[in-house]
Amino acid sequence: DAPLAELDPEVHAAVTAELTRQQSTLEMIASENFAPTAVLQAQGSVLTNKYAEGYPGRRYYGGCEHVDVTERLAVERAKALFGAGFANVQPHSGAQANTAVFFALLQPGDTILGLDLAHGGHLTHGMRINYSGRMFRVVPYHVRESDCLVDMAEVERLAKEHRPKLIIAGWSAYPRRLDFAAFRRIADEVGAHLLVDMAHFAGLVAAGLHPNPVPYAHITTTTTHKTLGGPRGGVVLTNDAELAKKVDSAVFPGTQGGPLEHVIAAKAVAFRLAATPEFHERQRRTLAGARILARRLLADDVAEAGVTVLTGSTEVHLVLVDLRRSELDGKQAEDRLHQVGITVNRNAVPFDPRPPMVTSGLRIGTPALATRGFGAEDFTEVAEVIAAALRPGADLPALRTRAETLAARHPLYPHLSGAAR
Ligand code: PLP
Repeated sequence: DAPLAELDPEVHAAVTAELTRQQSTLEMIASENFAPTAVLQAQGSVLTNKYAEGYPGRRYYGGCEHVDVTERLAVERAKALFGAGFANVQPHSGAQANTAVFFALLQPGDTILGLDLAHGGHLTHGMRINYSGRMFRVVPYHVRESDCLVDMAEVERLAKEHRPKLIIAGWSAYPRRLDFAAFRRIADEVGAHLLVDMAHFAGLVAAGLHPNPVPYAHITTTTTHKTLGGPRGGVVLTNDAELAKKVDSAVFPGTQGGPLEHVIAAKAVAFRLAATPEFHERQRRTLAGARILARRLLADDVAEAGVTVLTGSTEVHLVLVDLRRSELDGKQAEDRLHQVGITVNRNAVPFDPRPPMVTSGLRIGTPALATRGFGAEDFTEVAEVIAAALRPGADLPALRTRAETLAARHPLYPHLSGAAR
C-alpha cells in the first residue's frame, strides 16, 4: 500500500503543482476558498470507504454506527448555524441540492421563475441546456438596465402572468442583497414555493453579516465550499416538516445513491468552524476587502480606462467589473490578471454585447484571500495591483512581484509545503 508519490508519480506531481499554484498566486475566484486542514483531513479519511444509503438510524447497510455520528453532527450543526428545523446534508454538490428540490416540488413541464443566467443566475436556475431548462418551462427575470438591480416589479408581473410552481431567488454573480420578504410575498400571492439558493453568500449568513433567507423561503439550498469555506458539497434546509420529508426522499433514493460520508464529516467540521468568532471575523474581512476593491475600481484613473463597477459598489463578497467601455474584453482582462498572479474569472455583464466565451466583465471575490488572513491593508494593495493591471501600459512583471509579495506575507498550508498531502 504505497504512498501516492511512489504509487502514482504523475498524479502526485499534478497535486503538488496545484498546491504550489494555490500558495504562490492570489485566488480571487468568488466561488472558491481554502478548506482548513481539519476539513481536508475529514474529507481524506477512511469514511470514503463506507456505503450508507439511507439516513442516520435508517440505513440500508450494516456498519453505519460511526458515519451515523458524523452525519448527525453535520445535520444538527447545519440546523443550528442557519436556524432551520430540518437539514439534509447529503447532496453531493449545489447542483445536486437544487435537483433534489426540483424533484421534490415539481413535475416535468411545470413553470419556474429564476434569475437569467446572463444577469447573474446559476445554470440550475433554468439555463436552456441545463436539466432545469430542459425539464421545466423557464420564465427568466432580470436586472434593470438602469442600475443593474433585480427588478422586483418584473418578478411580480411575470409571477402573476405565468403562475410558476417555483420561484428561485439566488445568484452566482450579483453584488447586492436580495429582498427575501418581497420574493416570499410574491410567491404567496401566486401560490408558488420559494427556493432561495444561498450558495454564494451562505458564509456571510452564518456569520450574521447577511440577512438569513431560511425564515422566508420554503426551502433554502447552499453549497458548502464557497464563502462557507468547507468541502465541496450541498445542503438543503427547510422549516417545513412535510417539505423536509419530500426533500429527504428526493435526495435519496430520488436523485442520489450512497452519500459521501467523508464529505459529510468534513461538512460537520466546517459547520463547527463557521459558528466561531474567528469565522465571523474572517467574513468581516471578506466584506471589507470587497468594498475596498469596489472603491478603488471606481476611482478616476480606472474610469479613464473605461473600467467601472456594476451597481457602483458591493454588499457581499464579490465585485462585478464592467469592461463594456474598456479596450480590454473579459477574456483579455482575465488573462492579464493571470499574468500578474491573480486568478479571477471573466463574467458576462447584464446586456453584454460580447459572446459568453469572451464577455465584457470580471467577477472578483475576496473569500479565499480573507481565509489566508488578508486584512484591509493587504486588500488595499491587491486593489492597487488590479487597478494598475487594468489600465493601459501596465508594468506586468512589476505587478507580479507585488502579488507574490502579498502571497508570501500570508503563507497558505505551510505544513504541506514541498509535497501535497
Ligand atoms: N447555486 C449557485 C447559486 C451557484 O453559484 C453554484 C455554483 O457555482 C451552484 C448552485 C452549484 O454548485 P456546484 O458547483 O457545487 O454544483
